[in-house]
Amino acid sequence: MDLMIFLSGLLIGSFLNVCIYRIPRKESVIRPGSRCPVCRTRLSPQELVPVLSYIFLRGRCRYCNQPIPWRYPAVELLTALLICMAYKHYGTGFAAIYYTLLICILIAAAAIDIEHMIIPDGLLLTGCSAALLFNIFGVGISFADGMLGFILGGGMLALIAVASFFIFDKEGLGGGDIKLAATIGLYLGWRLTALTLVLSVYAGGLTGLLLMILKIKKRGEYIAYGPFLAVGSLIAMFYGEAIINWYLSSFWY
Ligand SMILES: [Zn+2]
Repeated sequence: MDLMIFLSGLLIGSFLNVCIYRIPRKESVIRPGSRCPVCRTRLSPQELVPVLSYIFLRGRCRYCNQPIPWRYPAVELLTALLICMAYKHYGTGFAAIYYTLLICILIAAAAIDIEHMIIPDGLLLTGCSAALLFNIFGVGISFADGMLGFILGGGMLALIAVASFFIFDKEGLGGGDIKLAATIGLYLGWRLTALTLVLSVYAGGLTGLLLMILKIKKRGEYIAYGPFLAVGSLIAMFYGEAIINWYLSSFWY
């Protein structure tokens, strides 16, 4: 069972790679079949086996000999591992599918944000519609909690965006970040969304500092915020209740 879920996760990750490449380029994610991201030659089934093809081809395309970005096997492995965690955590019912959907949206949004500094509306809209359907049928969280999370996530980031516009006279956050936070809120509800925001601020701040110390980024340069929202919400998804209980019992009475 575990192996089946892991292998399905690799295939889903492989599809996410197609989405990550094509959605920001406004191409269909269904047709045509997979191509080399560099020379665009159509790939045969044996060149499309997740992770293994990358290893056997030694990370290079067979036709143009250009390196294939390591993002491809990384996304496949990460997707498979996180989906396995979702099934361990939420069992084999509809709830696991619900959280698997969120995992897919987070991985695609983070990868696209890193490369293009945008998070496509279509991806988030699809994610939100699916979450609403699940919530209405009682899977995941309640409809009301999802709505509260949506408003809290989107609202808080919108406030930060407006504040940074007035204080620093520039946009600190993009519209895509605001919409991603709202989508996360819809999936996780208001408590875990509040935790996601806190975690993402810490993760983003620390990484920004580290990148400046290592002189990879200069002060005032933009860093995509989507990946930090994704990391924050993944931690909240799996360990959120434990973190909140620990925090409340350690610091409040
Ligand atoms: Zn090629």
